[in-house]
Amino acid sequence: AMAARHGLGRAWAGCSLQGRRLAHAGAGGQLQREYDAVVIGGGNAGAAYLQKSGVRTAVLERRHLLGGAAVTEEIIPGFKFSRASYLLSLLRPQISTELELQRHGLRVYARDPYSFTPVLEDGQTQWQIAQFSSKDAQAYPKYEAFLSRLVSALDPLLDAAPVDPAAWSQGPLLQRLRALRGLQPLLRAGLALGKQLPQYYQVLTAPITRILDLWFESEPLKATLATDAVIGAMTSPYTPGSGYVLLHHVMGELEGRKGAWGYVAGGMGGVSQAIAGAAAAHGADIFTEKPVARVLMGTEVKSKLVLSNASAQLTYLKLVPPEQLPEEFLQHVAQLDTRSPVTKINVAVDRLPSFLAAPNAGAGRPLPHHQCSIHLNCEDTDLLHRAFQEASSGEPSTRPMIELCIPSALDPTLAPPGCHVVSLFTQYTPYALAGGRPWDEQEQNAYADRVFDWVEAYAPGFKASVVGRDILTPPALEKIFGLPGGNIFHGAMSLDQLYFARPVPSYSGYRSPIPGLYLCGSGAHPAAGTGLAQVWPRGGPRQQEGEVCP
Ligand SMILES: Cc1cc2nc3c(=O)[nH]c(=O)nc-3n(C[C@H](O)[C@H](O)[C@H](O)COP(=O)(O)OP(=O)(O)OC[C@H]3O[C@@H](n4cnc5c(N)ncnc54)[C@H](O)[C@@H]3O)c2cc1C
Repeated sequence: AMAARHGLGRAWAGCSLQGRRLAHAGAGGQLQREYDAVVIGGGNAGAAYLQKSGVRTAVLERRHLLGGAAVTEEIIPGFKFSRASYLLSLLRPQISTELELQRHGLRVYARDPYSFTPVLEDGQTQWQIAQFSSKDAQAYPKYEAFLSRLVSALDPLLDAAPVDPAAWSQGPLLQRLRALRGLQPLLRAGLALGKQLPQYYQVLTAPITRILDLWFESEPLKATLATDAVIGAMTSPYTPGSGYVLLHHVMGELEGRKGAWGYVAGGMGGVSQAIAGAAAAHGADIFTEKPVARVLMGTEVKSKLVLSNASAQLTYLKLVPPEQLPEEFLQHVAQLDTRSPVTKINVAVDRLPSFLAAPNAGAGRPLPHHQCSIHLNCEDTDLLHRAFQEASSGEPSTRPMIELCIPSALDPTLAPPGCHVVSLFTQYTPYALAGGRPWDEQEQNAYADRVFDWVEAYAPGFKASVVGRDILTPPALEKIFGLPGGNIFHGAMSLDQLYFARPVPSYSGYRSPIPGLYLCGSGAHPAAGTGLAQVWPRGGPRQQEGEVCP
């Protein structure tokens, strides 16, 4: 349970003191009874910044591993999987620099090239844009430059708290004027886009198909680009607002390369470990196997601030006693759209997949396309739409959208010699199956078998190479990682749930109705992505009445 009143928060860690302590300074190996700040669930970046500024901070993580959905797990002996999140791009570069993540062990493998789309109907050819349309090949760099201008303009918004219209008309004049300063990044973004603002407004609000049709003519290219607009979202490329999801997936950077995605050495847990290392080096106490429970069961920890990195729904509907929250607020949180289409399948294989479109060369050595995001069933944007429609009526897609990655093509430490780990990020699968069927082992295996059939069609021999698999349907993602509805973003990134409406309107500045209790992580602005979700941007959250804010 957690209660915070008059600036004093309490988090009860609902397990015994034997929880594993990963790092601490002066805590004598035990969870202390009082901290200045407690972070619930991962949130080590926040802890690092707080502790760095002199705030005594503890992190209480429910699982036996740190990192939430950004974790490395050896599910099958000898094979290390980035079990949920698998590609890095959205880590804010300044967090990496300020927390000295390289010094704390973060290493990244950049990829070049980064996208490969074999085409089934024409299985002999490796797809390159010009092979389909020389017009598209010429348009592509211009399209990238067009998007890149939007990304640069919006970039400062990621590091600033959303504007708070309510604060403009509340409190003393000076405070109101200060609140108006929150408009600066928004105005700057508008000015940077200049007279092209209406075109960019369209990118953010239109269905991605409309934007892509303006730029390109070849279907495999449009379908491949459209995957970024629906990835992790229970939406079709024809859904208005899908353009924003695409933008979210191109707004990162890796080692100075805008929009690039790469593999973390040793798996995605490497990011979490490096951040935890930084937090620990500054003196934060970090504990695993310390779920914060609603009912007092074990240790009571008092702190002036409580920051929850768990989802908005877990935080406000499960951890906080309902009588402490306004009914309207609870209603908003309960109604959040947390639908998710994702089933992640982690596969251990004893040889490298060989694609019809680009067969393996001798000795099974990785070729350049093996390091790519390999898009299957992307011959046509309509395929993605049909896959979405099936899931909307409660059935897993018969021809799912598949993003296949083989991180071991660049990082041999992930699997035994000659073997590989294959990540299959697939959609669309509904959380609830039609007719109330449970997502039991039979349903899970039937879906995974279907996905494997599709991979086999592009890369014959794949099925025979499988040593083991780990199937994570939406309910499994919810159960293991605490993601409501299995949603990889803690809640849909639809336009009505972004920026000053995230997690809900009027409570977007990381604040909650309870002084001293803040929401961080994916549920808050600027939403999901490994390394993007933060405790609060520069300048801190808006201080709440009667609380001590670092
Ligand atoms: C299948 C999948 C694939 C993804 N792929 C990518 C990708 O390739 N690249 C990318 O950038 N992002 C990806 N993401 C998204 C990314 O993982 C998330 O955006 C990121 O993990 C969000 O971090 P977070 O700290 O906000 O929340 P989370 O990672 O969800 O962490 C929340 C933590 O809170 C803990 N918790 C919950 N309740 C309690 C409690 N009561 N007490 C204590 N602890 C609690 C949970 O155990 C968890 O550790 C993916 C996500 C999924 C599920």
